[in-house]
This record gives sequence, structure tokens and C-alpha cells, in this order.
Amino acid sequence: MGIGTDRKSIETALSESVILTQVDKVIGWGRKYSFFLYPFITACCGMEFMSVAGPRYDIDRFGAALPRFSPRQADLLIVVGTISHKQAPILTKVYNQMTEPKWVFAYGACVVSGGMYDNYSTVQGIDTILPVDIYVPGCPPRPEMVFEGLMKLQDVVQQERAAKWPRGEAPYKKRSLEKP
Ligand code: SF4
Repeated sequence: MGIGTDRKSIETALSESVILTQVDKVIGWGRKYSFFLYPFITACCGMEFMSVAGPRYDIDRFGAALPRFSPRQADLLIVVGTISHKQAPILTKVYNQMTEPKWVFAYGACVVSGGMYDNYSTVQGIDTILPVDIYVPGCPPRPEMVFEGLMKLQDVVQQERAAKWPRGEAPYKKRSLEKP
């Protein structure tokens, strides 16, 4: 089928076969549907995470089905359960070993704010030791809440500019865990 030479028919033909976009948008689109999770699970929220990952709720629909148990192969750190100050250096080490770009998902009230554990041994929110991208409170959060958080994170990833990376190492030594 030939293309007419007038402007309108050229524009019509091109609109059916050519897509104009930005490199950042294409990369963001690919990244948001290909998360590789590193689940850092310490406590009871882990049971709810299992249901999120199971066949009933099926996290695979969001392109995030394959957990990686090596941080170097993961780009989404999902922190699930209560984080004590003893565990905090391990968590930040895992974060620092992940390759960039990488994102952090705070799963449940304990991770977001320390939850009911307002005491000396519990980290009062992992954003005191890591850069957190998405917060999903709840004790534990329902799978629907987790998926809403995951979709919001996908929106963030889609809009990100390459210039944002690298983020650098987690600053936990400079923040809440610094010794007096
Ligand atoms: S938020 Fe609730 S369910 Fe989740 S780890 Fe803390 S106490 Fe357990």
C-alpha cells in the first residue's frame, strides 16, 4: 500500500508505525516490569509476604516474581518484619552489595516506624539507615496494600531520570546507629 504525499496521509502512516519517546522512559518502562526481589524477612509479616508471593495473589502479574537470594542479582530490597539494631548492619550490608539502580520497599509497621516496638533494641523505621522508596504500613499489611505500594513504586521507577543514579552507600554510620 503506497503512502500519499500529502502531509495528513504521511502523518497517519507514521502514527501507525513510529513511536517517539525518550531513552529514560523506555528504560524506566523496562525496569518497572522486571524487579528482582531480595526479601529480607525477620518476623511475622513474613507470613503475609508468602501469601503475596503465592498463587492466590500472584506477584508475577507485576513482573516481580523471582526472588534473588544474592544481593548482587537483586534490585528491589523488600524489608519485612521487625529490624533490631543488631540486624541493622547486616541489612545495610545487603543494601550496599546490591547493584544500582536499586529500590527499597518498607513492608509493615515495624519496618516503617518500629511499630509497637518502641524500645531500645528496635530500629524506629528503616529510613534512619536506608533510603526508602515506598512505605506500606499495616500490622501486617494486606496483600492488596502491598500491590498498591508496588504499583506506586512502578510509577516512581517509570518517571526516574538516569541522572539520579548512583545513589551511593547506605549512610547508617552517620545516622541512628552512630555510637555516642
Ligand atoms: S508489623 Fe506486625 S505483623 Fe509485621 S512484623 Fe511487625 S508485629 Fe509482626
